[in-house]
Amino acid sequence: MKALIAGNWKMNGLRAALSEIDALKGSLQSAPSSAEVLVCPPATLIAECAEKLGAVAGTGGQDCHAETSGAFTGDLSAAMLKEAGASYVIVGHSERRAGHGETDAIVNAKAEAALNAGLRPVVAIGETREERKAGEAIAVLERQLAGSRPQTADFDLAYEPVWAIGTGLTPSISDIAQAHAALRAALVGHYGEAGRAIRILYGGSVKPANAEEILAVEDVNGALVGGASLKAEDFLGIIRAA
Ligand code: PEP
Repeated sequence: MKALIAGNWKMNGLRAALSEIDALKGSLQSAPSSAEVLVCPPATLIAECAEKLGAVAGTGGQDCHAETSGAFTGDLSAAMLKEAGASYVIVGHSERRAGHGETDAIVNAKAEAALNAGLRPVVAIGETREERKAGEAIAVLERQLAGSRPQTADFDLAYEPVWAIGTGLTPSISDIAQAHAALRAALVGHYGEAGRAIRILYGGSVKPANAEEILAVEDVNGALVGGASLKAEDFLGIIRAA
């Protein structure tokens, strides 16, 4: 299975930040990675990012609407992202779930909309600090996966503990291993053998210094990277670790 290293720029990056895309592309061209690389910039930069990266790396959206068109001011459909040059879209990021009230059902509808438009969804799930403290992390992950997953196995899953995003904190390696093993079992339960081919990315304060250890864990098939994806040098450090 080819690892996926995906960068989520969140609401960061004006056109000047495309110099980081140039740097990323230059480095990947001179030393190709064995991992698949994906950059999810703000929607305003998708077209230029995709044009610059060409076949060297993929470009993705950070969210899409579940409907194909209509009176949804400020939203973007999956087809719009696709037309702009995206091949992937993140759905269910905890910042969307917490800040925009997105439920598992909404995330599921977005994942299906992405697939219908020809985008590959990266479905994000993760427990809060309180849920982990209460010993409910695995049950929460299983519930979120069951409610958010699309019908078919054509997606990547991202396990992102909410309390690890942007905090510099990460779960212990054994907690990451336990979560990924449980998610693999759940995926096989939902999709049969096809569930073994779904990549499970870890996300939450991944940086060059911890990437190798995290990516070596069984059933960690890549990383979803926020802060450390904004600078090509840091992102490349994670890509090289994969
Ligand atoms: C994220 O936003 O998906 C993320 C993992 O952020 P960070 O790497 O900054 O924790």
